[in-house]
Amino acid sequence: MLGGLARWLRASGYDTAFRHGIDDSVIVAEALETGRMLLSSDGPMFERKVIRDGQLKALFIPQQLSRIEQLAYTVDKLSLKRLPARCMACGGELQEIPKHSVLDEAPPLAYRSCDTFFRCKRCDKLLWRGTHWQTINARLNDILKL
Ligand SMILES: [Zn+2]
Repeated sequence: MLGGLARWLRASGYDTAFRHGIDDSVIVAEALETGRMLLSSDGPMFERKVIRDGQLKALFIPQQLSRIEQLAYTVDKLSLKRLPARCMACGGELQEIPKHSVLDEAPPLAYRSCDTFFRCKRCDKLLWRGTHWQTINARLNDILKL
């Protein structure tokens, strides 16, 4: 349910992992192991001892919120600042790469219309900042302070 929020948080510069359809105890164990905070809309999850005791930091995201409202809520509750964008697919760090190096790889339209290309250091995905990014960027500017 929070997959959209996970992608928006990556664009905001946060390394988020998204799990769907696996057991709560697996999610909790993974969050403890990786030192990540848990974000969930699943009420019973918050009755777990590790969360009640504060051993695992967790934030309950109200279910009725839209994705953008979820992002605004998370930013407000955790006082998030905007960091350099991460890969929206996996949360990996992005490295800017020279335009000429992607001539054979980038779609022709993207190559013609964009000047800045990035490669994800984790999943190797090629990214560029086209019109889709401008839309995302404008939304993030509204919600997050630099
Ligand atoms: Zn990636």
